[in-house]
Amino acid sequence: MSLIVQKFGGSSVAGPERVKHVAGRIVDSRRAGHQVVVVVSAPGDMTDDLIAMAKEITDKPPARELDMLLATGEQVSIALLAMAIHARGIETISLTGGQAQIRTERVHTRARILAVDRRRIDRELAAGRIVIVAGFQGITEEEEITTLGRGGSDTTAVALASALHADLCQIYTDVEGVFTADPRLVPQARRLAQISYDELLEMASSGALVVQTRAAELAKQDRVRMEVRSALVDREGTVVTDNAFERRRVVTGVTHDADVAKITATGVGDRPGTAHTLFRAIADRHVNVNMIIQSVPRRERADISFTVAKNDMAAAVEAARGVAGSIGADEILADDRVAMVSIVGAGMISNPGVAARMFGALAAQRINIELIATSEIKVSCVIRADDVTTAVRALHTEFELDRP
Ligand code: ADP
Ligand code: ASP
Ligand code: MG
Repeated sequence: MSLIVQKFGGSSVAGPERVKHVAGRIVDSRRAGHQVVVVVSAPGDMTDDLIAMAKEITDKPPARELDMLLATGEQVSIALLAMAIHARGIETISLTGGQAQIRTERVHTRARILAVDRRRIDRELAAGRIVIVAGFQGITEEEEITTLGRGGSDTTAVALASALHADLCQIYTDVEGVFTADPRLVPQARRLAQISYDELLEMASSGALVVQTRAAELAKQDRVRMEVRSALVDREGTVVTDNAFERRRVVTGVTHDADVAKITATGVGDRPGTAHTLFRAIADRHVNVNMIIQSVPRRERADISFTVAKNDMAAAVEAARGVAGSIGADEILADDRVAMVSIVGAGMISNPGVAARMFGALAAQRINIELIATSEIKVSCVIRADDVTTAVRALHTEFELDRP
């Protein structure tokens, strides 16, 4: 008997009809002879609505209480889904993240999973039940409820698949797989039949919402067998593999991330320890930094620019201003009307000139590039937020992703 972890996103459980439909698909897998562990997100926009409710009470809700609130969304889904499966005469049980023993560090609203104690889930599976686990949440050693950051149910699913040594982790969502670009932005985007762990990670971390970055990271690290597919239609999705077959194109996908803010410290001293002081202060606030660029120093002074998520802008600015004196910065500037576009592809490694082609395609649209960062298989540019749609479409065409 094989064990499958199936994760259903919020749109898949928005409303009773969809919950019943999902229950049907889960029961089908059970009847086909698999053991099934299900991970589910809060219905529809419930997480957004809960955040809005908190903001109506106070501008700065305590993170612990925010987690307390947000965790209720997933609890709605697990209970309703368990009822729908039960109504089909199949044994099932819903578990919160805490009940499923998903242990996290104590960092509210963005906790990382430290360990999963599988004993409870094993007992339920052994009793012949379908186990339904609330995504996006865990529990600390002190039994505090935490959440895993937006999109965190994907990470719950991968972490469970890894801990349970599942044969497969299926991410069911509102698109038919991982596409060459966000299909909402690029109508010509195509589903990729396969993608490598490295590419999935680079696409996720550069803004492709389809799988949370932590989930892609964990899947790669633990080599979790994984696929992304549609919750609505029963069609082949995208299989995540170790090696990308059939490399015909240099670029596999184009991504964009609107959730970016740019911070610049101007005129910092060109001496050892400056970057350390600045980024230590930012890390101490648990703020994730994405791109970092330092200009060539002139008269022993340089500018350091970096990007963070929009939500982290205020904390990052505060942290940077706190050390501005000691690093000799003239000013700390912040700009949240920017976005990042990236091209990702394992084929880039052996193909020179890919970055030049990207810059050329942007220039042809008269789009100015403010920051550039590269990795072996990715090139990212920070541009004006207003230019994103034009940029993504132009890059999609430039790298011939429109054509089958
Ligand atoms: P879920 O609620 O199932 O977790 P999400 O909204 O988090 O769903 O993620 C799915 C969405 O990700 C899609 O509707 C799509 O608009 C977006 N997306 C962004 N980039 C991509 C991509 N490259 N391939 C597929 N979907 C993408
Ligand atoms: N409900 C959470 C969110 O909206 C987690 C998830 O959907 O994965 O971010
Ligand atoms: Mg998601």
